[in-house]
Amino acid sequence: MFEIPDPVISNDTDVLIKMKTLGVCGSDVHYYKHGKIGSQVVQYPFPVGHEGAGVVVAVGKTVKRIKAGQRIAIEPAMSCGECDQCLSGRPHTCRKLKFLGCPGQANGCLSEYIVMPESNCIPVPDKLSYDQIAISEPLAIGVYAVKQSIPMKGSKIGILGFGPIGMSVLLPALAQGAEKVYVTDKISKRLEIAKKSGASWTGNPDKKDIAASVIEQEPLLLDVAFECCGKQEAIDQAIEILKPGGKLMIIGIPEFSRWSFSVDKLRHKEITITNVRRQVGCVEPALEMMEKGSVDVSLMPTHRFSFDETQNAFELVAEYKDGVMKAIIDFEL
Ligand SMILES: [Zn+2]
Ligand SMILES: [Zn+2]
Repeated sequence: MFEIPDPVISNDTDVLIKMKTLGVCGSDVHYYKHGKIGSQVVQYPFPVGHEGAGVVVAVGKTVKRIKAGQRIAIEPAMSCGECDQCLSGRPHTCRKLKFLGCPGQANGCLSEYIVMPESNCIPVPDKLSYDQIAISEPLAIGVYAVKQSIPMKGSKIGILGFGPIGMSVLLPALAQGAEKVYVTDKISKRLEIAKKSGASWTGNPDKKDIAASVIEQEPLLLDVAFECCGKQEAIDQAIEILKPGGKLMIIGIPEFSRWSFSVDKLRHKEITITNVRRQVGCVEPALEMMEKGSVDVSLMPTHRFSFDETQNAFELVAEYKDGVMKAIIDFEL
């Protein structure tokens, strides 16, 4: 932790935000542990963090939509709005993308105050708690992953890895009518949360042959498998449990640089592989689902820390201690 002067509004379109809560993401911890993700390398000191909820303290001269005192969700991706990707509706792969807490792009929101452009501030209804607001970021990734897969109504799906992203896939999938959801994780407390949240079946790959167990219950196999843990064994299981014409959604970030696939199975089943890069336009729908109560994220935050205890929060998440699902940094504690 280090002291820096509070940020100030330098552009007329900027908004000064006092942070209220921050969700600790696996990717933040990845930077903390390894100093990089793929080609993105951290130069210390650098604030990470992109799952933020805050309250507006001041706004720049031309800001109209946002007012001081408003509670907001923060959309962490700042896209240029002008490149081929932005113009074709893919701001999440913008050529000049600046993502909060990504080294070389933008400082993160693990900070008492941050400044963001107005366009990245999403006002939220009073009904939502600051925890729910912060969770809208990972939830949006799940909402997007589900949207990129197949219509959920009557579908049979697998979720391999039930951390916050796996949970963020489960909730909208069920809300949209998934019929059967098979969930795996190595942490039993997470599987309990999956059960309570509506998973039809859960299994721990350290204790069970996942492919054999799913195949026994679903001889025709699954329509979609969501890889949410970045593990090779999960990819292998996914390919086993997918039906011919099935879809493999890859969301997890592995700690290695190459996946391997069984060409034989992939080809014979004609499996489609889709990579999910964060999300686009799904923060508002995620907030709406929580507001309407069609998804319930209340079991996601399992641990709370004050800002001063950030290091403990990161250690907990890094070591997967105490059945942690989502650790929240609470700036009010
Ligand atoms: Zn995240
Ligand atoms: Zn762009």
